[in-house]
Amino acid sequence: MEPTGKALFVVMDGLGDRGAETPLSTADTPHLDELAAKSTSGLLHSIGERFVPGSDTAHLALFGYDPHKYYKGRGAFEALGAGMDLKEGDVAFRTNLCTLDENGIIIDRRAGRKELGFAEIYAALDKMKIEDVIAHVQHTVEHRGAMVLSGPGLSEKIGNTDPHETDKPMLESVPLAPEGEKAARVLNEFTRRAHEIMQSHAANKKRQEAGLPPANGVASRGPGVFAAVEPISERLHLKSACVAGGALYKGVARYVGMTIEDADGATGTADTNLKSKAAKAVEVKDKYDLVFTHIKATDSFGHDGNFEGKRGMIERVDAEFLPDVIGAFDVIVITGDHTTACSAKRHTADPVPILLWHKDVRPDRLSKFCEDQVRTGGLGHVDGHDVMKIIMDYLDVREMFGE
Ligand code: ZN
Ligand code: ZN
Repeated sequence: MEPTGKALFVVMDGLGDRGAETPLSTADTPHLDELAAKSTSGLLHSIGERFVPGSDTAHLALFGYDPHKYYKGRGAFEALGAGMDLKEGDVAFRTNLCTLDENGIIIDRRAGRKELGFAEIYAALDKMKIEDVIAHVQHTVEHRGAMVLSGPGLSEKIGNTDPHETDKPMLESVPLAPEGEKAARVLNEFTRRAHEIMQSHAANKKRQEAGLPPANGVASRGPGVFAAVEPISERLHLKSACVAGGALYKGVARYVGMTIEDADGATGTADTNLKSKAAKAVEVKDKYDLVFTHIKATDSFGHDGNFEGKRGMIERVDAEFLPDVIGAFDVIVITGDHTTACSAKRHTADPVPILLWHKDVRPDRLSKFCEDQVRTGGLGHVDGHDVMKIIMDYLDVREMFGE
């Protein structure tokens, strides 16, 4: 069953919003509106109507993997997205370098954020051996990194060491189930030894000379265990690629077996290079059936309650991304992974507009792609795990149920 065309799947993170007027409904988006007039549309519930989706669980669902079955914590996705290789049973975390005072109290959760010496510090902590476990760490951006504990008998059922706020000491990780006992013990030992190594590290002298706070603690959060899954190429018969800036999205994509295609200047932030992402999606499409492209900043602006910023980002996608991809693909799906309401500054369970273009869809003849207009669209209410099935149907790879 060879797919008969090329599909582009665009996720603008946190695209949906609340209220009578939204960033999407008020954005000046001529390319999106023209596409919407020829598309069918609806409202997407990425992980089911009763849940407020995280980006990790929402993307799993959108790729056709039930998060209730496959979600085992965020850490493994972060580590995969950072380019680390994970083995079955490895437990991974997101890490922050932070600044502790002489009493072990966290006075800066980001250690000043300026990267001077951070890569050296992360490198100095890499491959620490604790009992029969090896701790692999890797720097990503700013103060952030990922850590993978690799060894027998580990579980993700443990608490964070990151207290998520300043003026608190680092937490002792605690087992959240009996099988988490060893992983918690190893993580605590890692945290203690890392502090000792960092206290006397030359990179911190450099930071001091530059007037920056020392990075003398590693806070870990979001433990996740790695378990291999059937790749999307076998499960859905779609050879798939991911063009994204954010590590989490690359990580979920790698987890389901997508190939990561890096675009220059794709940062996962508001300064990302959208033209470069569009060019990469078009450049690689012949090698794949499906190209997934992720745009993060819409969500970040939503978390900040920045309506104008979110609207501006949507307008940038319209001006800098869409003109180069429309016409290059046979199927285009544009949606978000959840609503990030500017008024609430968080993810909400409100469904997200979704648009499907193919030359033969039954067009809804919308004048604008927005929360209000898609309510009467031909796709109706769409479950996240059905998005890939819809794409497959338009690529002629749908397996029939009955005959
Ligand atoms: Zn998201
Ligand atoms: Zn978010």
